[in-house]
Amino acid sequence: MSRYKVPRGTFDILPDQSYKWQFVINAFREVARGFNYREIITPIFEKSGIFERSVGETSDIVEKEMYKFEDKKGRIFALRPEGTAPVVRSFIENGLMLKPNSSKLYYLGPMFRYDRPQKGRYRQFYQYGIENIGTMNPYADAEVIAFAYMFLSKLGLKNFVLQINNIGCKNCAKDYDNALKEYFKPNLDALCSDCRKRLEKNPKRVLDCKVKSCKEIARDAPSMLDYLDDDCRANFEKVQEYLNAMEIPYIVNPKIVRGLDYYSQTAFEFVDTNLGAQNTLIGGGRYDTLAEQLGGKNMPGIGFAGGFERLLLSMEEEKLPFGLQQKPKVYLVSLGDEARIAGIKIIMELRENGISTEFDPDKTSMNAQMKAANKTGTEFALILGENELIKNKIILKDLGNGEQKVINISDIIMSIKDK
Ligand code: AMP
Repeated sequence: MSRYKVPRGTFDILPDQSYKWQFVINAFREVARGFNYREIITPIFEKSGIFERSVGETSDIVEKEMYKFEDKKGRIFALRPEGTAPVVRSFIENGLMLKPNSSKLYYLGPMFRYDRPQKGRYRQFYQYGIENIGTMNPYADAEVIAFAYMFLSKLGLKNFVLQINNIGCKNCAKDYDNALKEYFKPNLDALCSDCRKRLEKNPKRVLDCKVKSCKEIARDAPSMLDYLDDDCRANFEKVQEYLNAMEIPYIVNPKIVRGLDYYSQTAFEFVDTNLGAQNTLIGGGRYDTLAEQLGGKNMPGIGFAGGFERLLLSMEEEKLPFGLQQKPKVYLVSLGDEARIAGIKIIMELRENGISTEFDPDKTSMNAQMKAANKTGTEFALILGENELIKNKIILKDLGNGEQKVINISDIIMSIKDK
């Protein structure tokens, strides 16, 4: 037994799982290329103020879940709990608005939240996300949603639903917040303690509460859609028009509010209909004041983020393929010192030619090496003894059907590549 265990809420991605991650990451990158999003990689920690100011001091993420620490000079940092604020910080800092092909960005990487771990919820989790910064055009909203839809569809997922909403802007959200306060007032005592606070500071969040009694009370709450001003309403209609044109199925759910402070207007979620409590695969929305909150110019944006862990759970649930696991194609079996040295030269050449090759320096007998070759699941064994070496020959054995033939050493690559 190891003396140490992985920290609670985190996990190792072992080799027989990591190929699944590579598969979904490759698929994500391909979709990003299609939509002309380019990768941005920001640090894993940032000044904690970046999140406090943007995500919102009263949000669960900032209030309860941030991994905050002080460095040796007393500066307060946080392990990033989400990716949007750092991307917008970098966008402003590096003047990306002036650079070509730099307003549509994607990121991949770990995020950290101190929450109670459960299936689909971890303290370190891996997100993929995109941001389209600088445009108010509702086409951008639809395109961001289309990206997420195409990604999930490309993986073969079927059991998910896209829910969209418009949560209003500074102008119209106030009236709605007041209406919510009025609505919940008679039931204040029945709300959970978090929601009582939320009602004061950000009443929309009550609609997002997972506590059963809060959910029940919220069922007949007023709908934001009845409070949208003309601009927000027109915007929402346009987004839907574009989604219809792209043939992306969705439902309008006025209860989608998103948990972070910086959102306005379009909000959406892709929800898996099979997963348990943690069933939001992807969440996203528009953030028109975030850049300003971080000290930049007024610059709108829209994006989404999803967690790889839930994505894999969904794919496993739907029994979808993840491609093949990595294994070597060729195993070198060498007999005797001279053949070993000659064999080492051969495997270097094979690797240079992109042929994955394995060799075990601790094994010397034919039997042990052949057993090892079979165990790794390689397609071929190359068997080199002193007799073959003298004649510049080598034995190529197909481990699938057991057939073997003697070939010229100079023909190895051709013979293997042919197969
Ligand atoms: P959020 O940033 O909270 O909107 O989350 C966006 C997506 O990230 C969610 O829909 C999940 O797929 C994923 N996610 C968020 N928090 C966690 C977590 N603690 N563990 C695993 N995945 C998470």
